[in-house]
Amino acid sequence: MTGKALVALSVAVAAVIGIGIGAASAGVDKLYVLDCGQNLGKDQSRWSPGVNQGKAIEFSDNCYLIRHDKGLVLWDTGIPDSVAAMPDGMVVASGAITYRRGKTLASQLDQIGVKPADVTYVAVSHTHGDHVGNIALFPTSTVLIQGTEYDWAMAGPAKPTFASTQKIEKLTGDHDVFGDGTVKIISTPGHTPGHQSLLVQLPKTGWLLLTGDAVHFQDNWIHKRVPSMNVNRDQTLASLKRIAALLEERKAQLWINHDKSQSATLRYAPAFYE
Ligand SMILES: [Zn+2]
Repeated sequence: MTGKALVALSVAVAAVIGIGIGAASAGVDKLYVLDCGQNLGKDQSRWSPGVNQGKAIEFSDNCYLIRHDKGLVLWDTGIPDSVAAMPDGMVVASGAITYRRGKTLASQLDQIGVKPADVTYVAVSHTHGDHVGNIALFPTSTVLIQGTEYDWAMAGPAKPTFASTQKIEKLTGDHDVFGDGTVKIISTPGHTPGHQSLLVQLPKTGWLLLTGDAVHFQDNWIHKRVPSMNVNRDQTLASLKRIAALLEERKAQLWINHDKSQSATLRYAPAFYE
């Protein structure tokens, strides 16, 4: 073999090894926190019985985009993007809540180079309006929702507006999205009949549990408070126990979607977590 041929062979071997190294780092690559609006609640006791009766409270509302080597998952879709153009926000729940949106979900995805058609799965914690507001923005994505949640929402007065082309995968309980345990939907009913949370393993940050509305605020988590509007109190308490056990087992962080002070400590897109 000539010296030249040997160099060529070495380069070819290195290329093959390079591909091998790439394959070994499979799983979740990064997670983006997206600003999906704010809820202004007229009376905190609606969510925290007996606490701050008659006092207003502001919540954060986040969406999360997870990049896995097998696809992109959007967890929740937030308050409708149309609210960004409403200077006074949108009043819902018979005046109990006002939705606001500083920037659209579409613009935040665009900023990080993601088109709606790139999103493989849109998974929603539940079907309240501040979580499914933009579900139709993703006409080619597969929706991951509990079957009990879908049936309940479609029988009620505020049906989510799905895109007609969306494939809706109705889940029954826990679901391992990519089959490798790194993005796992956890059944946490009680706030609504088919509420679900998300357990994610990031390569550097470690395990995160994204609550959805299994719990609304840090203070409610500490005191295990159940909002009066939840459909099932016993199920809610059982779900909180399950979350506590998972946090312990995985040494996971609990990211409480609506907790404004916790959200203020997070890095939002275009920054990301690895
Ligand atoms: Zn809710």
